Amino acid sequence: MNLLSTTPVPSDAHELKARARAFAEEEIRPRAADHDATEAFPHEVLSAAQNVGLAGQYVPAEHGGGDWTLAHRLAVVEEWFRADGGIGLSLQLADFGAKVLTMHGDENQQAEWLPAVTAGETITGLAATEPRGGSDLARMGTVAQRVGDDYVLDGEKYWTSNGEVADWIVVYARTGEEPGHGSYSLFVVPTDADGYGAEPITEKMGLRASQQARVTLDGVRVPASNRIGGEGSGFYNLANFFNYGRIAVAGHATGLAAAAIEAAWEYVHDRELYDATVADNQTVQHRLVEMREGFEAARGLTWQACERVMAGEDPAFWASLAKSHATRTAEEIAREAVQLHGGEGLKSDTRVNRVFRDAKYPSIYEGANAVQRDLAYGHWPAEWGSVYSRPSWRVQWLSHALVSVATRSSTACSNRVGPPHGSASVVWLAWLASGERAFALIDSSYRARVLYLRMLFSQPTMPSSSAAATAACPVIVSQPE
Ligand SMILES: Cc1cc2nc3c(=O)[nH]c(=O)nc-3n(C[C@H](O)[C@H](O)[C@H](O)COP(=O)(O)OP(=O)(O)OC[C@H]3O[C@@H](n4cnc5c(N)ncnc54)[C@H](O)[C@@H]3O)c2cc1C
Repeated sequence: MNLLSTTPVPSDAHELKARARAFAEEEIRPRAADHDATEAFPHEVLSAAQNVGLAGQYVPAEHGGGDWTLAHRLAVVEEWFRADGGIGLSLQLADFGAKVLTMHGDENQQAEWLPAVTAGETITGLAATEPRGGSDLARMGTVAQRVGDDYVLDGEKYWTSNGEVADWIVVYARTGEEPGHGSYSLFVVPTDADGYGAEPITEKMGLRASQQARVTLDGVRVPASNRIGGEGSGFYNLANFFNYGRIAVAGHATGLAAAAIEAAWEYVHDRELYDATVADNQTVQHRLVEMREGFEAARGLTWQACERVMAGEDPAFWASLAKSHATRTAEEIAREAVQLHGGEGLKSDTRVNRVFRDAKYPSIYEGANAVQRDLAYGHWPAEWGSVYSRPSWRVQWLSHALVSVATRSSTACSNRVGPPHGSASVVWLAWLASGERAFALIDSSYRARVLYLRMLFSQPTMPSSSAAATAACPVIVSQPE
């Protein structure tokens, strides 16, 4: 049985999905128990995946990559996580940092750093989370200080996947005076730089083949040309990147849920209990059906969200919704699958037990599910808009009214840089009324203008050209229409 049908998968990803499935059956699944027991990083599986063009490929073809879309990524990770979460995560994250660079790096940076990733010569990572917390990106403590043509990074990162095995990682650090959305930037940091240290986190409950580390940055010096995007754009760029990452995490969950249902189905039909099998109990049959219901609903939502993120339709809302729902569902299904195994499911060397332990993780990483619900609520698509933060209901309604007027009277500002025609004062009034960066209107019929407004709200001064706008607020202007 393989529950990961091609039905919701776009046809251009079918061939890749079939290759990923064959690879997972031959190379991942047979090694899953060993890597789970030893916590060894799966170098040999990663090399094999790189050799056949299945790892490090989420990068444009011009830099040697597979030109994968988000749907390609999702189709592949579902298959990998069905075979094994720990190995699957290691394979996926080989190009974790490379994808950030693909989305927000410039041509020179991409040409310098990406080809070795796609050739299977380098492994990357991304370090945002810190010991003090990982859920609020606007309050991270690592600092990058500009010194001449360089930046000097000091701080500590936690749970950095590939922190020890990577050749370079993308580090999220504060470049502004005070914490805040516009105060962070992203940097490519080679792991052999002086002052870089990584200590693996061991004895994890699940995903044991994957490697995470506590990373220390002690006066690490990188050239300013290693900064990804404009200074202060890191928060917005990472938020944009996570919209994509969270769809992949939803795929971790659907892969694990498929594995749990398959294991449970097999077990209850094989297990002879006195004069019948476990599956002969009607309540057991119902539980299998309920597990399947949850799985199909979560997978349907995940693929719908993938399509919406790719189309740029309220990506933050859909990515958070899918991540939160699919990961919670996977946890529930895995718990039920263990229950149906009885005592056998409590042995750590069984497939179902491994899946159960692995399934606890996706609801926590890339932003705990509580934070996903904050995001989904804050980005709730509504006819007349949604607010990110709400100074007060009165201010909110005043702001909405003003922005509605502004967007309606602004006739031709789609994606161009410059004040909206005839409505600049209304826009600025709305901005003042709401407080800086207090809201963004999300309204599909006015989308282009709204993107423009969002740009205005996150920038106290008007960018003078589209290049300046891209540097200042790339999350807005790179948003696909
Ligand atoms: C296997 C694994 C791989 C990882 N890989 C990476 C990586 O490569 N790079 C990286 O930067 N990070 C990585 N992380 C870190 C991960 O993203 C963080 O663990 C995650 O964002 C949660 O942060 P935290 O652990 O600091 O939890 P905290 O922020 O301390 O939150 C703890 C709990 O508090 C509750 N909570 C938090 N905020 C809210 C809220 N607003 N409302 C209600 N409740 C709330 C939630 O229940 C949450 O689970 C990884 C983690 C794991 C486990």
